[in-house]
Amino acid sequence: MTHIIHGQNESAVVDLFIDGKSVPASSGRTYTTVDPYTGAAVSVVADADTSDVDEAVGAARRALGGPWSSITAPARGQLLVQLARLIRRDAEHLASLETKENGKLLREMAGQVEGIARWYEYFGGLADKVQGEVIPTDKRNFLVYTQKVPVGVVAAITPWNSPLLLLTWKLAPALAAGCTVVVKPSDYTPSSAVKLAQLATEAGFPPGVINVVTGRGAETGKALAAHSDVDKVAFTGSTHVGRAVAHAAADRFARVTLELGGKSAQIAFGDSDLDAVANGVIAGIFAAAGQTCMAGSRLLVHREIADRLVAKVVERAERIRLGDPTAADTEMGPLANKQQYEKVLSYFARAREEGATFATGGAAATEVGSYFVQPTILTDLVPGSCALTEEIFGPVLSVVAFDTEDEAVELANGTEFGLAASVWTRDVYRGHRVAGRLRAGTVWVNAYRTVAPQVPFGGFGASGVGRESGIKAVESYLEDKAIWVELSGQTRDPFTLG
Ligand code: NAD
Repeated sequence: MTHIIHGQNESAVVDLFIDGKSVPASSGRTYTTVDPYTGAAVSVVADADTSDVDEAVGAARRALGGPWSSITAPARGQLLVQLARLIRRDAEHLASLETKENGKLLREMAGQVEGIARWYEYFGGLADKVQGEVIPTDKRNFLVYTQKVPVGVVAAITPWNSPLLLLTWKLAPALAAGCTVVVKPSDYTPSSAVKLAQLATEAGFPPGVINVVTGRGAETGKALAAHSDVDKVAFTGSTHVGRAVAHAAADRFARVTLELGGKSAQIAFGDSDLDAVANGVIAGIFAAAGQTCMAGSRLLVHREIADRLVAKVVERAERIRLGDPTAADTEMGPLANKQQYEKVLSYFARAREEGATFATGGAAATEVGSYFVQPTILTDLVPGSCALTEEIFGPVLSVVAFDTEDEAVELANGTEFGLAASVWTRDVYRGHRVAGRLRAGTVWVNAYRTVAPQVPFGGFGASGVGRESGIKAVESYLEDKAIWVELSGQTRDPFTLG
């Protein structure tokens, strides 16, 4: 068994990628991924166990001390830029792999793949700008400087909703910093990560720098997060699993970055441009069928415009074209898998029990296909109800009216999460003032759902720990080392602190 991905029409075989080679799981175990739109099998995937994880971590450790450490920082940067070029070359294939395994729109995934190339270019450019400093101290006889050294072997554990983008947010800065990586993609969407590792090999990355272990979260992911030879775990996924990963890492003092869930608020003030807000709200919650961590799942709207704005959003939501995610005019595909579909339906039932009004939606869209749900808008929600506090990760918008700016801020900040938010207003003073008061890692003013390699992204509270993207993302894959050089050649009193 040598091959990773062969054939487009029949189920492809996705093997592990360890030390620059494709290998089956040592146990021979496999499982199958399924296209959520067609129901067809997509890939037969190697199901790694702890011994495979050991192999991959071992390969990453050897590469760290081997050929990778002798590649200069500028050369690392060039490898990242070369990888970006290959991603662009194979963009169509990568996007289609992602759509097949998670049902998201092909045009959304194609846009993401183009964006991914820009991330590798950005971090490629940063690779040789990582530098230490000479530190002036009161110790006249010492030259003191710092070096930035790679944190070591990184485990990158990623979810199914934007597989390659969220992997890239870890991989690009980790490689720029000189780390080696073991990737554990989502059980549902492993193919694109394996393909990316192959492209990295083609780009010239030495064997062992990027390894991929496919398999189940509860076994493969758990073994990787807890592995004693992993120095940092970079995780994106649910808050629940993030907590377990953080515990496993803390047990051995490994570094962590966590990008977790959200319950992000879009705040519409009375002076806002209603058409622009309606468009932003649709983008925030119905793009990607609401399966994005930054989904704007709560609409906080000033009472004086509430009815008009909700009517506009409902009208547009009811016109959303559901269907084949590969068709150019489809606006919403299916949910990514059965588990997510059932989770969203269970929230409809709970919202009903809690007395919510369904301004639109609230049911499966079985006439379109399996795993489709109607774009849904809930009003008359009781404070503290599940639709206002829990991440649904589906196309479900919860609307609450407010009367004052203070009340809007209090509502927006009133969840355990703090990933993103938006402020819609024509008042420039209010836009900045409210943005400053929101407890969220990203705030858009008169916009929603835009990201860039240069801009840090991450959450407050239960939305995560640390930031990805931006210059400082590289720092999170580095350790500072202070080096003291004695200049006088004199000995000193050994019983005092110098
Ligand atoms: P998940 O937490 O179930 O799984 C994420 C990854 O962790 C997968 O690769 C999975 O196999 C692995 N995993 C599962 N159990 C594990 C364990 N015990 N130890 C180690 N790894 C384990 O999340 P999901 O269902 O794949 O993705 C949806 C969630 O991700 C949502 O809650 C969403 O908000 C969140 N998300 C957050 C961001 C962000 O940037 N903040 C982005 C996308 C998704």
